[in-house]
Amino acid sequence: MKIYQMSDALANKIAAGEVVERPASVVKELVENSIDANSTWIKVEIKEAGLEQIKITDNGDGMSEEDSERAFLPHATSKIKDENDLFHIKTLGFRGEALASIASVSQLTIKTSEGTEAGTILRLEGGKTIEKKKSDARKGTEITVDNLFFNTPARLKYMKSLHTELGHITDLLNRLSLSHPDIRFEATHNGKGLFKTAGTGDMLQVISQVYGMNVAKNMLPIKHETLDFKIEGYIAKPEVTRASRNYISTIINGRYIKSIPLHHAIVRGYHTLLPIGRSPIVVLSIKMDPILVDVNVHPTKLEVRFSKDKELFTLLEGLIRDKFREITLIPELEHKKPKPKEKSYQHTMNFESNKGVAENLNPVEAPIEAPKEAFMQNKDQSNTEMAPLSTETITRNELVEEQENQDEIVREPVQLEETKKEYANASQERVPTMYPIGQLQGTYILAQNENGLYMIDQHAAQERIKYEFFREKLGHPSNESQELLIPMTFEFSKQESIFIEQYKEDLEKVGLFFEQFGNQTYVIRSHPNWFPNGFEEEVIREMVEQVMNDEKVNIEAIREDAAILMSCKRSIKANHYLNQEEMFRLLEDLRNTTDPFTCPHGRPIIVHFSTYELEKMFKRVM
Ligand code: ADP
Ligand code: MG
Repeated sequence: MKIYQMSDALANKIAAGEVVERPASVVKELVENSIDANSTWIKVEIKEAGLEQIKITDNGDGMSEEDSERAFLPHATSKIKDENDLFHIKTLGFRGEALASIASVSQLTIKTSEGTEAGTILRLEGGKTIEKKKSDARKGTEITVDNLFFNTPARLKYMKSLHTELGHITDLLNRLSLSHPDIRFEATHNGKGLFKTAGTGDMLQVISQVYGMNVAKNMLPIKHETLDFKIEGYIAKPEVTRASRNYISTIINGRYIKSIPLHHAIVRGYHTLLPIGRSPIVVLSIKMDPILVDVNVHPTKLEVRFSKDKELFTLLEGLIRDKFREITLIPELEHKKPKPKEKSYQHTMNFESNKGVAENLNPVEAPIEAPKEAFMQNKDQSNTEMAPLSTETITRNELVEEQENQDEIVREPVQLEETKKEYANASQERVPTMYPIGQLQGTYILAQNENGLYMIDQHAAQERIKYEFFREKLGHPSNESQELLIPMTFEFSKQESIFIEQYKEDLEKVGLFFEQFGNQTYVIRSHPNWFPNGFEEEVIREMVEQVMNDEKVNIEAIREDAAILMSCKRSIKANHYLNQEEMFRLLEDLRNTTDPFTCPHGRPIIVHFSTYELEKMFKRVM
């Protein structure tokens, strides 16, 4: 006989390879279990990046003696009973694999009680129960995982540096706390504070813990409900960007998920407001009927599938776009902010509760790996007592800061509600006529009006004007096409030609006929009339690229790209002299664009110094 059935212990150990890749996966599974058990407080204590010990304590439902033993059996779960349940999953877990897997590769202790009678303590080693006794009746569960991978040395070898592993853990805790603002999280590493949230349900407050106060202050709220979706969260103003997509957090039914098309939709919402290669900071929680979501994709991947996804993408894109239409976006001139005093953050955070807590600060060790800057900001704030940080508190605290820093120039308190109001009023006439004073270094126009001083980047301004002009022009094209005297020949990559073949009909519908000439060579004999002169080749290539990215022909997007292309190529450059009349015209044209504040590439066009700011700078007012 050659075929044997594996023992449960062996099967679990193999399964553990999938579920428990690294210490962060253990933290994930255990914290998710605590969340599923309705905890409102979860404490995570880590030693040596989790390789020595991971201890998770919660105040959730707890387990009976019988269930606590059963929980470690393979495929043991309280979360689904039959196939039908698989379509209505409201919990984070449902596979019943985690506890069995984790226990099989560690020395694990669980202490749990439902709070009504004595609890249970179980000790397991390599998945086998080696001790069982009674415990106190504190409601909740405490699981301690010691010496992870002690019996799988090969796995241990794959661990990266402690910093990397700890980075994964903090990253994970960031995501879990953003997904659950109503849960109070506390985390320590080697006894030192790592992370803390207040659990008040206020997402902005968690954002300020994860990304820092400065980011939190620059977030705009999003809230919308349709029959299918309930969307709530925050999007950062376009001037606060990051180089990586990691700062877009999307949460579906309390589950942090990664979805590239969803991210694309969000970025499209920002439209041309983002500088090239930059990504926004976004935290969006989306609620929908669980029946629309298929979470059964892969145990450790953050992917889900959901129906009505196209509707959701369009909705999100529109919501974000509208948000920015609603407000204007002149970046305020930021002078010296009150950063020199290290304590200013603590003062801010503890306005409600403290006098002098800042003195007892015990700085946290910062992991070198991810989440980098998020964490760097954060370390200023952990270890302090949490004070509820409503937007109201932010304003008040800023005022306090301002008083405390009398002799420094502080930005006026910028605060979401107020800003919104201001912008709403301003939207009728967003920039009053600006009168040119002169030109600076042949590049910037200085101008003034009753609201103060403006500096305008002339190249960016013209790009914006031209862009809107071309967009308008390309927006109403005729369907006629133009025969070419000399056909154009294109060489495409294998992948591109696959897409061309696949979308041939759609491309023809918009007037582009690709004739195959050899494998990846195509000939174009005519093209739509609206193609801008001199840009035909670029537009055609853009079109192919766009079809590859979006997997459909989106003529609007193409026109958009073409407009950007042309506006950039045909705009006056820096170091170009303009007379008074030309400057005035340019400023007027700019004023009349729908978005005078950012060029199509997302760079700012106007910098504004308000009269008040000027007076403050010169100490005419205090
Ligand atoms: P799953 O989460 O997929 O159900 P797990 O192996 O993670 O599988 O957990 C098995 C079961 O143990 C859960 O279904 C739940 O009933 C119970 N359990 C695990 N952790 C906790 C906890 N912290 N509090 C209460 N019950 C828990
Ligand atoms: Mg679980």
